[in-house]
Amino acid sequence: MARHPISGRLHPTHRAVRRLFPKNVYVQRLLAKLESLNVGLGVSTEPGQWLYHPAYRTLWVWEPDLSTQPLSYLVVILAHELGHVLDFDEKPLYRAITKDLHWTQVPDEIECSAFVRGFWLLQELQIPVDLGQYLEMIDTPMALQVGWELLAAHPWAAQPFTFRPWDAGLPASVSLLAAVPTPACAGPARP
Ligand SMILES: [Zn+2]
Repeated sequence: MARHPISGRLHPTHRAVRRLFPKNVYVQRLLAKLESLNVGLGVSTEPGQWLYHPAYRTLWVWEPDLSTQPLSYLVVILAHELGHVLDFDEKPLYRAITKDLHWTQVPDEIECSAFVRGFWLLQELQIPVDLGQYLEMIDTPMALQVGWELLAAHPWAAQPFTFRPWDAGLPASVSLLAAVPTPACAGPARP
């Protein structure tokens, strides 16, 4: 949990981990979303792994990633983890399935669903990552499955992202995500 149930203050561990994140406007927007859902931050002890556990409402982050990975990676992994948060809140079945599982045993369906939700969340929060860029950050074959599900439900997901930070009067330095090259092909073919 991010906040004390009575005082409403953010937990000191949460605040310490939050300070380690880049000051990028999109990263901060995703962190604010986590806090609005009362999810706390902690430090992961599983090498390379970011883990969310619904019973603790805590996202354990792999700290070295915060200083070594590009912003696009941090944005996509935060969106994915927020996808898990929303899924677990909404789908008791997912909670039941994963209750006694180790993180390595989580079914692909639950991982895919978190990526699909994560993509819509980026659109909702007006974070400029288009489908091609998003799928590039995901391992195959999961990327194919995520792309297929997004396009099957909403073919317009393949549209290029129209929001541009400079339209909102923000300095160009916040548009670092735009540095990610757009692949020639925007994911798998339309179904
Ligand atoms: Zn996951």
